[in-house]
Amino acid sequence: MEMPPDYARMRNDLIEAFPKENIQNMDILSVEKFLTSRGMEIKPYLVLEEDDISKVREIIGSADFFHGMLEGGEFAGSYIPELDMAFVFRRGKVKEAISSSGDIFSEGLLVHELGHASSEYREYVTTEGKSAAVPRIGFCLTEHQFGDSVPMRGLLLEEGWADMLYGDYIADTPKEKKHLLTEALGDDMERLITFPLPGIGKVEMPLKYVYLDEDNSPSVRITSLAAYALELLCQKNPNIKPLLSEGRHSVDALRKLAQEINKIEPGLYEYLQVGNYTLDSFGTKLAHILSLV
Ligand SMILES: [Zn+2]
Repeated sequence: MEMPPDYARMRNDLIEAFPKENIQNMDILSVEKFLTSRGMEIKPYLVLEEDDISKVREIIGSADFFHGMLEGGEFAGSYIPELDMAFVFRRGKVKEAISSSGDIFSEGLLVHELGHASSEYREYVTTEGKSAAVPRIGFCLTEHQFGDSVPMRGLLLEEGWADMLYGDYIADTPKEKKHLLTEALGDDMERLITFPLPGIGKVEMPLKYVYLDEDNSPSVRITSLAAYALELLCQKNPNIKPLLSEGRHSVDALRKLAQEINKIEPGLYEYLQVGNYTLDSFGTKLAHILSLV
């Protein structure tokens, strides 16, 4: 099934209401070049401020694409599979973190969301009484759309994939663009910084995943824990990295990926597949992988 016509209309209306040419204080060319150089297609994206939200609501009406993320000021961005579009929200704490860390932080967030958009599983399905939904985003099965009691699977791999791209973007970007970060924390983007996670213990994170929060303190996003976990798996078993790229479009590669992860430890793939998008879930899994390497 193709994208339903009413979704396609909303998508066009959003692109027309928020043309990317109007995006200020962000080097979108640099983001696009980075993704293109990795063979990734640039899907439509919007960078929104708080004042833009009402217009988005007007266009999408009662469609529940955002699952509360339009209103919740703490969300930095989202990829909406139904519209096949990426969104970055520059407001609240995210806006403050951009002031502390520089525009490169918002560029990294856009790289992350467009990273999710590289999923080539573009199948729409409908179930009785529900609107059309996309059941797989890359490594993640989004069955929750068919009932709140059904948990999502594959969140760690999907978030890890998107945020490894974030980390690579920050690492690859010229020094002068990340001067706020380097002045505070140094030049070596692979340097490990220790973060205490409540209830989990200490984890180490490479500097490329660290941003400066509203108080100018080093901080990491939940998805970065997943990225570093995935990075460590790639180091431990070099067969994994190419399968991550192939897995964006090949079910056969997804099967091989599970086998290669389980070569590190039997049952590790199944262990990583379950769990929510939380500090506790991703942090516990990262701590486990750190204990293996
Ligand atoms: Zn994400």
